[in-house]
Amino acid sequence: MSDCLFCNIVARTIPTPLVYEDDLVVAFDDINPQAPIHTLVIPKAHVASMAELHNSDAELPGRLMLVGSKIAKLKEIADSGYRVVVNTGSHGGQSVFHLHLHVLGGRHLAWPPG
Ligand code: 5GP
Ligand code: ZN
Repeated sequence: MSDCLFCNIVARTIPTPLVYEDDLVVAFDDINPQAPIHTLVIPKAHVASMAELHNSDAELPGRLMLVGSKIAKLKEIADSGYRVVVNTGSHGGQSVFHLHLHVLGGRHLAWPPG
């Protein structure tokens, strides 16, 4: 998907320092952080959103969560706590249509979200 921003980050066409990489996912810091720690974990393969996950993607959600947990340890927010968010579609506030998991922490996060 050459017109997808996050596919271009995976392809290194848009150079972005990676926090983590494995065979299925990469992670990088959000360009407009909403908390002291704000990292995105995304699949290397293009999946538009959580609504577009299929049975054949079964391994992927677990990997995204596992890497989110690794990132929290790496960024030293695992003990203080953090939030994982997957904005989906219009009401979910999704702006980039390549599936991504936000890992947010480093401050107290209010609930409920806006
Ligand atoms: P969404 O609103 O779709 O849940 O989240 C998209 C996120 O991608 C936003 O938090 C936004 O700041 C981030 N973002 C958009 N463009 C870029 C970019 O070019 N580089 C990085 N690192 N993050 C981006
Ligand atoms: Zn993409």
